[in-house]
Amino acid sequence: MSQTILITGGSRGIGRAAAILAGGRGWSVGVNYAGNEQAARATVAAVEAAGGKAVPILGDVAKEADVIAMFDATEKAFGPLSGVVNNAGIVAPGSPLADMSAERLTRMFNVNVLGAYLVARETARRLSTDRGGKGGSLVNLSSAAARLGSPNEYVDYAGSKGAIDTMTVGLSKELGPRGIRVNAIRPGLIDTEIHASGGAPDRAFRLANMVPLGRPGTAEEVARTILFLLSDESSYINGAIIDVTGGR
Ligand code: NAP
Repeated sequence: MSQTILITGGSRGIGRAAAILAGGRGWSVGVNYAGNEQAARATVAAVEAAGGKAVPILGDVAKEADVIAMFDATEKAFGPLSGVVNNAGIVAPGSPLADMSAERLTRMFNVNVLGAYLVARETARRLSTDRGGKGGSLVNLSSAAARLGSPNEYVDYAGSKGAIDTMTVGLSKELGPRGIRVNAIRPGLIDTEIHASGGAPDRAFRLANMVPLGRPGTAEEVARTILFLLSDESSYINGAIIDVTGGR
């Protein structure tokens, strides 16, 4: 069945791969991005080439007004949402906590925690069946860092993803009775540009020997799990946190 979905951070990496797979199912996708318009336009074109519809939507998930506007823009273009991928997230250069500035910590938690909560709240407001919504699926992007802790590298990021796991557990119980399934995915080392944004472009390959499957994952391998959780194929899965880590 055709769906309207919103993917925060849908223009690059894992979000982009999910948008293209959704396009392949004929779905309509709100492709949110933070600033790189060229990448967002390229992803929209790729979704359309795959057979779906898409619209690029500029906005920062850490800003309430932007989050409301990105839901509005998707619904204006394609009608009521039935799926949301809470995917936008950032890392910062590897560092022990003792050397992290308050500015870095503030941005990390504003984007990865506050932003994810604002997106989840907007999903609850619009999709809940007791508020006139038609129910649906919320997929949260956590990280294997939530259980590994990322010492000396980014305990701030790891903690922000721990919050995503806890939010997923709570919201699956809060929103399940209101027609929304809530699940999370913990990707492991995935080959995207997020590592370059943290100053270590080769990180996924450098650490691949720690992965039982012996290689980094691809964005599409995570995206396939996102599509599974959005679709009716996972109709009885709620409150799950699925590792996509090659066994790490
Ligand atoms: P990525 O390649 O760096 O892409 C990030 C995407 O998020 C881009 O579309 C970017 O838009 C957007 N974005 C960044 N900050 C934003 C903000 N404040 N508001 C809205 N959009 C924003 O990242 P990725 O590797 O695909 O990661 C996606 C998710 O998976 C993240 O939550 C990440 O923590 C999680 N994850 C990734 C890995 C991995 O190894 N890659 C592992 C575990 C978990 P612009 O292009 O406009 O900047």
